[in-house]
Amino acid sequence: MIDLKAEYQLLKPILEEEIIQVLEKASYIKGEEVALFENNLAQYLKVKHVISCGNGTDALQIALMALGIGIGDEVIIPAFSYIAVIEVVCLLGATPVLVDVDADYFQINNLDLEKVITAKTKAIIPVHLFGQSGNLEELLQIAKKYNIPIIEDNAQALGAKYMLHNEEKFLGTFGAIGCTSFFPTKNLSCFGDGGALFTNDDELANTIRMIANHGQVKKYEHEMVGINSRLDTLQAVILNHKLNLLSKNLSIKQNIAIQYLNELVSLSFIQLPKVYQHNLHSWHQFTIKVPDHQRDKLKSFLKHKGIETMVYYPKTLNQQKAYTRFRVYCPISEDLCKGVLSLPIHPLLRKEDINYVSNSIKAFFHAKN
Ligand SMILES: *Cc1c(COP(=O)(O)O)cnc(C)c1O
Repeated sequence: MIDLKAEYQLLKPILEEEIIQVLEKASYIKGEEVALFENNLAQYLKVKHVISCGNGTDALQIALMALGIGIGDEVIIPAFSYIAVIEVVCLLGATPVLVDVDADYFQINNLDLEKVITAKTKAIIPVHLFGQSGNLEELLQIAKKYNIPIIEDNAQALGAKYMLHNEEKFLGTFGAIGCTSFFPTKNLSCFGDGGALFTNDDELANTIRMIANHGQVKKYEHEMVGINSRLDTLQAVILNHKLNLLSKNLSIKQNIAIQYLNELVSLSFIQLPKVYQHNLHSWHQFTIKVPDHQRDKLKSFLKHKGIETMVYYPKTLNQQKAYTRFRVYCPISEDLCKGVLSLPIHPLLRKEDINYVSNSIKAFFHAKN
């Protein structure tokens, strides 16, 4: 799906030297490179504050804590998503309220969203799944109408942009708080775990920083309940370097997506991913929809050809055993779980690789039909 070893070989000469410098200084925690990275990312995203943390799941949890969400509160999340988003809501004792997604863009369905808002709704978490948003303008309007803060789960859409009222801004900077992950497979990734939160609100930024550091204002002065969630100095060194490559890597992936779309457009058996208007997609995933009785067969056919594909995600959040009590009618999410298949997409994929994947998919359907 993604060639991390090849990527490392490219970065090795520059990074190893910088990593050794950190080791020699022994500044493992909160080294100056962490603040440098936060500033660099804030500048890149044109957002006032970036606060780094241990991983993307922590970022979501810290965001909810910063908004004071806990027992008795409801948080609206999509039913078709990564598990982290429901997990953190439950960990804080709040109630996740699941909504279905739309069939074309896999994002929260705004019509369903408005129906589940109650007086207890304390946040909405749109997950910019696979690297883009849905109709964010409408979602922001709904949230504003009911005065509910938005936490954007931007773990898959870092670097993606959205045009709102003729102004293009980075996804993750529209809501009260944006959250992201630097897990090795993400758009901007480190060599382990890492995450960050973004906000333009000074007060929220202070609270977030405090929560991520044991609720501490200064050493051994704890003002509120916090957690321990930090980005390692070593990871910040890596991220500082890789941030310089983010724009270029995203445009390479945008080109790969175009090549896939051109190659596969003639196949009527599958549905190709669509870009929602106003989005500059980050193509974290290139996800096709296959008639459900053929998805797993196609997956194993491709595996035999040496092509790795992934099913993001095989179950809706409430189809997972831990969360079956959060029942919801979400036929589209359930359908997607049976039909989605994500193809390899990463900056080091060559034209011949894309052709090989595309031709293999064509071969599967032509042999079948
Ligand atoms: C990866 C991811 C997360 C969690 O990030 P971690 O760093 O793995 O904790 C959360 N939400 C989405 C949508 C993700 O893709």
